[in-house]
Amino acid sequence: TRHSPFFNPGETATAESLAILHLRRDQLVPVILSDPTNNADGYAEGAVTNTRFGSFPHSTLVNLPWGSQVLASKVDTGSRGRKGNKRKRDETDSDANTPTGGREAGEDVKTAIAAGSGFIHLLPPTPESWTVSLPHRTQVVYTPDYSYVLQRLRVRPGQTIIEAGAGSGSFTHASARAVFNGYPSASEPAQKKRKYGRVCSFEYHEPRANTLRGEMTAHGLDDVVTVTHRDVYADGFNLGEDKSESPKANAVFLDLPAPWLALKHLSRRRVPPKTAQAVTHPETESPAPENTTSSSTPTTTSQDTSPFISPLNPKTPTYLCTFSPCIEQVTATTAALRRLGWTEIEMVEVQHKRVEVRRERIGLHEEGLRGVNSSAANVAEAVGRLREVEGRFKEWNEGPKDGSQAQALKVGRGPDGKSVGGSKAERLAKIKEEFESRKIYKEGRLVHRTENEIKTHTSYLTFAILPREWTEEDEEQCRKKWVADA
Ligand code: SAM
Repeated sequence: TRHSPFFNPGETATAESLAILHLRRDQLVPVILSDPTNNADGYAEGAVTNTRFGSFPHSTLVNLPWGSQVLASKVDTGSRGRKGNKRKRDETDSDANTPTGGREAGEDVKTAIAAGSGFIHLLPPTPESWTVSLPHRTQVVYTPDYSYVLQRLRVRPGQTIIEAGAGSGSFTHASARAVFNGYPSASEPAQKKRKYGRVCSFEYHEPRANTLRGEMTAHGLDDVVTVTHRDVYADGFNLGEDKSESPKANAVFLDLPAPWLALKHLSRRRVPPKTAQAVTHPETESPAPENTTSSSTPTTTSQDTSPFISPLNPKTPTYLCTFSPCIEQVTATTAALRRLGWTEIEMVEVQHKRVEVRRERIGLHEEGLRGVNSSAANVAEAVGRLREVEGRFKEWNEGPKDGSQAQALKVGRGPDGKSVGGSKAERLAKIKEEFESRKIYKEGRLVHRTENEIKTHTSYLTFAILPREWTEEDEEQCRKKWVADA
């Protein structure tokens, strides 16, 4: 079995496998690493990824331990390129990785930065890093939403989840990890068919479905994810050419413009034509937005005489979530869910806020400097005060005749305001040491800011549960158990 880097990345980056080049927070570049011995592109160094922080030949990445910091290489990006394949830098590296690099980097990296080149960190892919780096073909579901959705859908290893539409595959990767049941151990009998867990993914737009299928193969997820090109409003969720294979899903996630149109297929029995008609045209107070109705709105199932095959697992309840940006879509979905017997219908909005925490250099709080910023009317004034403070410290360190150091010495107090004893020379040395050890410029007040509220609305999540199938046989078994237990 080929191991997916999403499930089992191993210790090191390998050729022909996905890796994430971490430029800096929120700047991640996904790359399928090429075999360094294969220089089909005609370059001595084989494939090269160019970033704003420099060029990274794959030969410098393959076989490195995950987490390695890698320096950019000098690569001739000019004349040697084949026609039509001329290499160029994606962006200039004028701000080459200095903001964090300067502070965190080791000596070799500092030297590299000084020489004008940058570095990256080499990371194994995760659904989270894929979500922020994937090529967008549609709107995508982000981590704060999908992590909440997957736990509410009770998705566990070995289960089956249906998702539609697959779009750019952001949710697909997260759900693949949630259902994945582990690779067989070496001792496991080969003939035993392993239940990996399964994601049945449906997408109406054919090129998108094909791209996602290719990605699943490239990411080693094709054991788990089946991508089907399908209009789910019209044709539902069963698999196979003749749609006769039930996925036996435990959970369903719908990120569709009109989820209510798909619900009649997500039932345990054929929905009577009258009900199907009603959920196709929901009688909501606010009609669904125009762009949410599909051109391929299905006809009712009134003439359908074929046996009904439910795509749901009859032995478990089905957990459903629909993901819709507008409240009108929620209303239409909820109306359809009620008609079709779903229970515990609830709508939730995840308002994820990123809190930015940093030190405010201006807000120095040491003795004698306290309140420097507290009454500053504006930034200019605050900066003015900072300069003044910095000047005082400079004076202190350079030993002015009658600056703050001399003053502190006279008073005999260190930066914490406590008395410092000893001879004059001892006191001077001690106070100086205390000031310096405080790294006072780095000890600004901690401040935090949250993102603007408007940016946090992604979609409304509507959850519902369809109780499990309950047959005569189940009832009989239950009765027998009660009798036996009594
Ligand atoms: N959840 C995806 C992700 O995380 O990347 C994004 C889904 S995108 C917002 C919605 C997708 O639904 C589009 O790719 C669209 O083509 C697909 N779609 C719309 N109507 C459909 C239908 N009737 N059947 C299947 N897919 C449909």
